[in-house]
Order: sequence, then structure tokens, then C-alpha cells
Amino acid sequence: MNATLPRVLHGATGRPLSLAEHQATFAAPVRTSGLFEELEASGLTGRGGGAFPTSRKVSLLRNQRGHGKVVVVNAMEGEPEAHKDRTLLSTNPHLVLDGAEYLAAMIGAKTVAVCVPRDNQTVVHYLKRAIYERTLRTHKGPTFELHAAPWRYVAGEESALVHWLNDNESLPQYRASRTHVLRVGRGPALVDNAETCAHVALIGRFGAAWFREMGTATSPGSALVSLTGAVDRPKVLEVSLGTTLAAILDAGNADRRPQALLTGGYGGTWLAGNHLDVPYANETLGPVGAMVGTGVLVVLPRSGCGLLETKRVVDWMANESARQCGPCAFGLPALAEDLTHLLHARRDGPRVLARLIERCGVIEGRGACRHPDGVVRMVRSALSVFATDIERHAQGSMCEGAKADEHWVTVPSIVHEDELVWQ
Ligand code: SF4
Repeated sequence: MNATLPRVLHGATGRPLSLAEHQATFAAPVRTSGLFEELEASGLTGRGGGAFPTSRKVSLLRNQRGHGKVVVVNAMEGEPEAHKDRTLLSTNPHLVLDGAEYLAAMIGAKTVAVCVPRDNQTVVHYLKRAIYERTLRTHKGPTFELHAAPWRYVAGEESALVHWLNDNESLPQYRASRTHVLRVGRGPALVDNAETCAHVALIGRFGAAWFREMGTATSPGSALVSLTGAVDRPKVLEVSLGTTLAAILDAGNADRRPQALLTGGYGGTWLAGNHLDVPYANETLGPVGAMVGTGVLVVLPRSGCGLLETKRVVDWMANESARQCGPCAFGLPALAEDLTHLLHARRDGPRVLARLIERCGVIEGRGACRHPDGVVRMVRSALSVFATDIERHAQGSMCEGAKADEHWVTVPSIVHEDELVWQ
């Protein structure tokens, strides 16, 4: 396989490749030794949002004693604007399963738990078939288990996913640090995002040097981007990390003169539209206040209202938490209320704006997980990027975008537990 794009989406035909097609498409001998060293040299970081070095996670699990280790493939994709994992699993499910199998070999796990949202029965079906095909192989790898969990925003958070596997409850658990090892039953668990697993599979075949032929020195490789908002149609693109935002918008037929971009998803940040020359990688997005995060880019056109979109997202995020901690139970609904007040340019706007800023400081860092911190980060970025508009709203003047009530960020509304409506 040469160093051109696509990589993890290579061979896409509009349907999932069978095991035989997959083996023909990615024909290359898999390393039987030195897999961990290659992974370490590749510099691969997690593609689920945290960008944690994958080899460090693996190393932690390799150092754990005891039986019952498990690899958990996290394809929950709780971020409503993200479509990359379901696209990948609808194209190259065996690449994801290969990567999980290599990770299992590296840590000595005999079980791989693949977790997907149960509302996406198409992907559940694709995975059932892929796992069945693997049981027919002469080479028996680890045992694959398919878990279809209820979809919600926090369900994809690592500790919530493990909690669900253990107790059927998608609630995040307090962790003193990110290096705290999670357990499924008694077995130490390595949780990796589906896209991360696909990259591991390619590194296992083609090596670290090949992987690094794309991307930047700090952020090597390619990554999937879910591009939505002011685009001809929502799509998933595979890009070399370090590609400029302008080039990504071009490739995706998006508005080239946007007002702003929402980067990294609902728990990410707004970036003003005059930063399109910035390369798409954490080390270059970070200094301008943006992030790769969950690989989401929502394009907000000049006609849109950033305050309206922020308020819609915060409303939903306030509803999505399990409300087991104060910042989620009280803080997020209060943020949503202040944003609604400002959006409708009600009286007393300057005081509400000052209160909103203060609330952000009170909420930050006080939850058992980072859900509320993500919301605060997004709200603060909105206060900065849309400062002029928000000030006008606070002074009693609604912008045209808010009056038009046109929506650019897709926000699901929960009708009841298992039924979602997308707005
Ligand atoms: S901070 Fe919020 S989402 Fe996280 S565990 Fe507490 S209540 Fe749940």
C-alpha cells in the first residue's frame, strides 16, 4: 500500500468488505514480532477525542498482571455530529477488528468486546457478519463479543462504557488520572476507539515509517473528519494531519468564507473563520484555541447565529448528563438558561452575561468526568469568537441569524429514552 489517501477508508465500495475482500485489499504480511515497537515508533494517538498516545495505553496494560484482560473497541460515537466510526465500520469492519486483534496480542488479551450503539442496527448487522466470518478462519484469534449499548453522549466516555459492560449502566466513573486502569469484571481493559484500531491494523502491516509518511512530526498519520454544517452534504473525509482547514473545506465542498467552525465536537471549541490557513493538527489548532477532538468540523456560515447554536448545544448537553454530580445537575441547566436569556435579548442582559462568565469558573473541574468541562470550554470559546454579536444580544438587539432561527449544528432531541429526533 503506498502512502496516498485514503488509508483506513481504502477500498471503500459503499458496502462493508467481506473478510476475503479485506484480505485482498490490504494484502501484506502482518508482523508477528516487534508489533509494540512499531506502534510506539509510529506515534499514533487515540482518534476518539483524547489524543492519548496509543502505545502508552498499551504499555500500561502490558504491565498489568492477572488473567482476563480485554480489549474494548469503542465505536459508540456519542458525539452527535460525528459519523466517522459508523462510516469506517460500514466500509472496513475487518480493519477495525484486525487492529483490535493486534492490540489483544500485545497485551495478552483473549477477549475483544466491540461496543456499538444499539440504535444503529445496520452497523450492528455488519459487525455480526464480520465477527461470524472470523469464526470460520483456521487461525483462531481472540474471542470477539458484540455489545450493542444504548446511545447517548456520555456512553462513549471510557469509564461509562466499561461501567455499562459491567453493570448495564452508562455512567462515567470517577478516575484519579487517565492512567487509572479500568476493569471489565476482574480483567484489566484496554479501551480504544474504532478508528484508532484501524490505524493499528495498518501499522501492523506496513510499519511505523510508512505511517509517518503522512501527517506532521508531532501528529503523524491520517485522521477521519466528520464535516457538517454549511456543506453540500455531511461527509466523512480522511485527511493527512497538518492539512490546512481551507483545504479540508475545499475537499468537502463547504462554505469557504464561514463565520466560524466548531472544532472537536460539542465539547470542543469555536474557531473564527479567519483561521482557515491553520493546519489541522492539535499542535497548530491549540495556539488559536481550537482542537481536533472527536474529528468534527461544523461550518457556520455568516448568516448563522453562534449564540443560537451554542445555546442549542448546551441545552442538549445539560439534558445528556447523568446528573450525578453538582456541575451537571445544576451548573449546565443554569448555563443553558443564561444563554437563552441572552439569545432572546431580554432585559438585564449585561448582568446575565457577567453571571454566565462567573458560572463557567464555578462549574469547571468539579465533575466526576470531563463532560461539564467540555461544555464550559465550548461556551467560553463562543463568548470569545462571537463577542460582538453576544454583546449586542446583551444590549437588547437580536441578530438576523437568531431571528431567522436557522440551524447549522445538528442537535438531537430526546423524546423518550430510546427514541431520538434529529433537528
Ligand atoms: S460530571 Fe456529569 S456526566 Fe460526568 S459523571 Fe458527573 S454527572 Fe455524569
